[in-house]
Amino acid sequence: MNIKELIRDIPDFPKPGIIFKDITPLLANSEALVYVADQLAELIPTNAKVDKVIGIEARGFILGGMIAQRLGAGFVPVRKKGKLPSDTYSKSYGLEYGEDVLEIHQDAIKKGERILIHDDVLATGGTAKAVCELVEQLGGEIVQCNFIMELSFLNGKDKLDYPIASVLQY
Ligand code: IMP
Repeated sequence: MNIKELIRDIPDFPKPGIIFKDITPLLANSEALVYVADQLAELIPTNAKVDKVIGIEARGFILGGMIAQRLGAGFVPVRKKGKLPSDTYSKSYGLEYGEDVLEIHQDAIKKGERILIHDDVLATGGTAKAVCELVEQLGGEIVQCNFIMELSFLNGKDKLDYPIASVLQY
């Protein structure tokens, strides 16, 4: 299945000069949605046990939940500042376009749990790196960071000390 056809380029979003990869046509296509969730779950090495899948707000929630279901794992949201209701740990990070703060619930992960981090896009790697640091802080073991797509020309991989996998590369 050619899912690249269902990802469109939106020029100058959210800022002039950025070409934003928009996955909403892919999400809206029932066959493509199941296909990409299956592909993402298959990126995890066979025999690798995953206790929890982390989805990064907001687009990481959608496929993150579908991967968790396929792996028989729990789901943990990492959210932007101020959105999670209980006690959190925070990490500020640099984006391709700006700065932000991500948070995780302090009790979301138990020490030694095996964690898959999922997001829609790996760009500069700043977001995923911040999430890795939050998982490390909680004592989780990162099995893999996986993405629908990797913008390889931004070298996000170089920032991350864990196995990276993606369904599509640009
Ligand atoms: P990074 O921190 O530079 O790797 O940026 C990754 C984060 O920004 C992810 O949470 C993505 O959802 C978002 N992002 C960056 N570029 C794009 C894009 O072209 N399309 C969709 N999301 C993007």
